[in-house]
Amino acid sequence: MKAAAAAAARMVTRSQSRATGFGSLGNGEEPVPPGNGEVASEGRKNHRPIKRQRKAQRLHVAYEDSDAEKSKGTDPLVTAWEPQDWKQQLANIRTMRSRKDAPVDQLGVEHCYDPSVPPKVQRYQVLLSLMLSSQTKDQVTAGAMQRLRARGLTVDSILQTDDKTLGELIYPVGFWRSKVKFIKQTSAILQQRYNGDIPASLAELVALPGVGPKMAYLAMAVAWGTVSGIAVDTHVHRIANRLRWTKKMTKSPEETRVALEEWLPRELWSEINGLLVGFGQQICLPIHPRCQTCLNQALCPSAQSF
Ligand code: SF4
Repeated sequence: MKAAAAAAARMVTRSQSRATGFGSLGNGEEPVPPGNGEVASEGRKNHRPIKRQRKAQRLHVAYEDSDAEKSKGTDPLVTAWEPQDWKQQLANIRTMRSRKDAPVDQLGVEHCYDPSVPPKVQRYQVLLSLMLSSQTKDQVTAGAMQRLRARGLTVDSILQTDDKTLGELIYPVGFWRSKVKFIKQTSAILQQRYNGDIPASLAELVALPGVGPKMAYLAMAVAWGTVSGIAVDTHVHRIANRLRWTKKMTKSPEETRVALEEWLPRELWSEINGLLVGFGQQICLPIHPRCQTCLNQALCPSAQSF
């Protein structure tokens, strides 16, 4: 498993810019009603691994050293860049998130699958909930998953469901028409190539229709217990830029992921998504952030902008 994860991480390091399925439209968008055009990007979920036998939950990190890390080790004069005050900012966010009462904490991906079904079905349900979650509120994704699970949610059951019925079951998730198509295509591939399971590598996951990098990172973490990178959605992207956690302003979640992975200690990679997503849902809101109540107000370069 370690070798496979390391190989996957290497592949991702070299070619992670691949965009699949949906394009980003920003935050707070409502689902497209029947008949409208569709574009989507990834949604957001926190993560906790599903173990095959569910005996223990443990994350494994497998990465290739970044150039920055290599240079840190060979040149004593090179000082690695890191954001000013990030440790205190992070501690403040942990404090603000200590109640764990954001939507992502109750309805995130780790709450959307059925723990009583076989592990490979759980993993399929994890992937499906991630596909549904793009540009969709957690409550809406959870509702769609509930309706799907009530019918017995497996690769076979989805393939036996006609498109119209599937659309009715997942509506009103964002870009539901596109998702019907991608879910059907991906399910057929999983049945043909993976015996109904999901692949255990990033490269194979992002090759599936409608599965983007952030979904793949979360699927690896939740379904396979492997931390392969930082899952960056619009919340993480926005907050990282507001706090100047990237060396320069970044334009896309993927750019932000690369910028964060250059300096953020690996032991924090699995935590950062859920932490910032909830922070973005409750305090550092997309349009009117609640800076007055934010513990980072005095440390945040963006606090005066709102
Ligand atoms: S001060 Fe405002 S912009 Fe800065 S992190 Fe807090 S809520 Fe976000």
